[in-house]
Amino acid sequence: VAKTKGANVVEYYSDEMIKKNKRKMLLESALRNALHNNELHLHYQPKVNLQTRKLVGVEALLRWNSNKYGMISPGEFIPIAEETGLIIPIGEWVLKTACTQNKQWQDEGYEPITMCINLSARQFQQYNILDKIANILQETNLEPKYLNIEVTETMAMIDLEQSIEKLNALKRLGVSISLDDFGTGYSSLNYLHKFPLDVLKIDQSFIRNINSDKQSAAIVKAIISVSKSLDLTVIAEGVEIIDQIDFLLSEQCDEVQGYYFSPPVPSKKLEEMLTPA
Ligand code: C2E
Ligand code: MG
Ligand code: MG
Ligand code: MG
Repeated sequence: VAKTKGANVVEYYSDEMIKKNKRKMLLESALRNALHNNELHLHYQPKVNLQTRKLVGVEALLRWNSNKYGMISPGEFIPIAEETGLIIPIGEWVLKTACTQNKQWQDEGYEPITMCINLSARQFQQYNILDKIANILQETNLEPKYLNIEVTETMAMIDLEQSIEKLNALKRLGVSISLDDFGTGYSSLNYLHKFPLDVLKIDQSFIRNINSDKQSAAIVKAIISVSKSLDLTVIAEGVEIIDQIDFLLSEQCDEVQGYYFSPPVPSKKLEEMLTPA
């Protein structure tokens, strides 16, 4: 199979590419029915304050157990959802489900925590995303201060002025904002202070080697220091072992998220970690 790429340039698809494309097409068509078929679920991963060791929030993470293909990782299906636009209805479902869950925990008498939700680029770019979030907060009766929206630098940089305006509007609603995967985008300390942020999330790729690699350690120290001077809460992602905890404690990192405390778990399991008010 050949595809033409401009004048005279022909590229050939390898068997590998054909296989990948085929799987993508199959997943795409299965994803179209995933919501309707109840194949999507949310898991929740604790965010823990390092000083008090209290669970202060959770991140909602999407899970797809396809009737046809079994468990598919977000790394594989989120990009498909983005490309096809399916992320719009799916993302709304995530917001609604997670806000409903958080309110329910409060109604059941647990100490309130913050629900953190990943927004995709495509969702963030919607002109009416603010109204949608405001409506969901109203419908679910969740106080805005218990919702945190996670965005990435890459997303925010697509249309800088628009992004800043939308983030400001979110803040006016009373919702807090995290910058996810910090350090992996074409991030610029230059723009950091322009975004109305509350939380900086250090990407797990830096945390992985903090105990063995001097450069990772130096970067993490620098990010924590920048966070402090900008008055942001700083959280480390992908914390798996005690040595990482020790390092982060000595550097006065505020919060951690990772397998060391808990992987993402279903709501019933998360409930066991909540504190009765
Ligand atoms: P993310 O927002 O950076 O989420 C953190 C990822 O790190 C999650 O992967 C989580 O399971 C994983 N993780 C947590 N602790 C550890 C650890 O100690 N070690 C390691 N190795 N990994 C850890 P997951 O659930 O596979 O999600 C991957 C990405 O998919 C997320 O990255 C996020 O960008 C995206 N995603 C997940 N759910 C949603 C969603 O509802 N909407 C959107 N737009 N994107 C989502
Ligand atoms: Mg995230
Ligand atoms: Mg992240
Ligand atoms: Mg990530």
